[in-house]
Amino acid sequence: QEDVFKKLVAHCKEYGFVFQSSEIYDGLGAVYDYGQNGVELKNNIKKYWWDSMVLLHENVVGLDSAIFMHPTTWKASGHVDAFNDPLIDNKDSKKRYRADVLIEDLMAKFEGKIDKEIEKARKKFGDDFDEAQFRETNPRVKANQDKLDEVHGRFVKALNDNDLTELRQIIVDYEVACPLSGSKEWTDVRQFNLMFSTEMGSTAEGASKIYLRPETAQGIFVNFLNVQKTGRMKLPFGIAQIGKAFRNEIVARQFIFRMREFEQMEMQFFVRPGEEMKWFEYWKEMRMKWHKSMGMGDEKYRFHDHDKLAHYANAATDVEFEMPFGFKEVEGIHSRTDFDLSQHQEFSGKKMQYFDPELNKSYVPYVIETSIGVDRMFLSILAGAYTEEEVPGKDGKSESRVVLKLPPVIAPVKLAVLPLVRKDGLPEKALEIMDQFKFDFNCRYEEKDSIGKRYRRQDAIGTPFCITVDHQTMEDDSVTIRYRDSMEQERVKISELYKIMTGHISM
Ligand code: ATP
Repeated sequence: QEDVFKKLVAHCKEYGFVFQSSEIYDGLGAVYDYGQNGVELKNNIKKYWWDSMVLLHENVVGLDSAIFMHPTTWKASGHVDAFNDPLIDNKDSKKRYRADVLIEDLMAKFEGKIDKEIEKARKKFGDDFDEAQFRETNPRVKANQDKLDEVHGRFVKALNDNDLTELRQIIVDYEVACPLSGSKEWTDVRQFNLMFSTEMGSTAEGASKIYLRPETAQGIFVNFLNVQKTGRMKLPFGIAQIGKAFRNEIVARQFIFRMREFEQMEMQFFVRPGEEMKWFEYWKEMRMKWHKSMGMGDEKYRFHDHDKLAHYANAATDVEFEMPFGFKEVEGIHSRTDFDLSQHQEFSGKKMQYFDPELNKSYVPYVIETSIGVDRMFLSILAGAYTEEEVPGKDGKSESRVVLKLPPVIAPVKLAVLPLVRKDGLPEKALEIMDQFKFDFNCRYEEKDSIGKRYRRQDAIGTPFCITVDHQTMEDDSVTIRYRDSMEQERVKISELYKIMTGHISM
């Protein structure tokens, strides 16, 4: 699995999806750039989210607020005091870790061992296998489960008590399973604030310390009444926003899974107090449906309820996706109560209330938030789409191909137009076809290399359709359309192409 991940990272670079930032200077930790195909895929993911949230919900509207905000925003939101991660150093290796992530990895190892035993048994016993009974009776599974429960119990308690000493103790006690087995010298655990700060204004005019926003949500909260009043919005309604966020993550790990500069797609849904659980359930279901519509396989998704609720939440769950390195959070769905609006009301001295004409009273609304990282979504989609397979090749032999089985609606290039040869007017004809479609689909023209090689290159970036222009095209205006997943080819009239493709591209 780790191997697959390495290949995926290499593939991202080779095919212009993701590059390390400032690579010629040996890169910058946990910061990445998106290449020619990456930017298309990323834009398509954002559009797919925006359309499903804003266009399909008549009570959700958009916003684009600034990255810089008044510094008091972050005092009110709790980020100045509480947006911390627990940091621990290993004295032997001089490496730095996030204590909670270290413990989560430890728990994942126990889970991995249990899964392995179960997989082995399932193979051995086939249809007769009874997993529940096996879990109860197999001594190895039981021993690992006991350890897992023990660590989990201690972990949840330490988090809730904010007990940094105990977090360290868990790491020390279970050292054998830690990535640095044998090294025992850990520092104390201390809190580390994740916000980046900078100065605004020159010192002459009195510079002030401001922050790069660590989430887009606060821009929505402070604009709540602006949007509600100017848009004549009635509760319940939502405000959606896509934008950059910045966190000084302790450890740069797992490629674009944890970045210091990343993008979020967040929606805050304002509801009547007391109705938040109903809407929490509603958005949980909507968001899970959205993820599953990507066609990566329903079994790759699960909900994971939080072990510790954030200071603002009364319910929270994550949508997790099975990455090559295990199930990981892609999206958070949080019931944030009236915490944020109330805090802003208190710190700004401005009312943050909604007048409810039906109840004939004013109140601070409750909020359900859906928060997803564009980059994590990007990674999950690529991980799900990346496929290596054996396909029939030349002379009856099989050959392997790498194909990104992306849903056509988000594929970076929808259509590649390929003249069979570079003469006899074929390139001109191909470009003519491209002109016909380039306002509707992202098209690519390619004439270099054999047709087989060109198909493979398009497979590798996930292009769902290749249109080949040959000599017959010049006679009867027909082309071959070659499908990425089935590799089947079909002869169709140019006049039919649009209809065929739109039929496949809508989801
Ligand atoms: P984690 O526990 O992994 O640090 P979080 O619970 O702090 O994440 P939230 O604050 O709920 O994350 O952020 C919402 C979403 O933003 C996450 O589900 C994730 O998709 C994305 N996100 C958060 N931090 C990062 C990051 N450093 N890099 C990329 N995406 C991120």
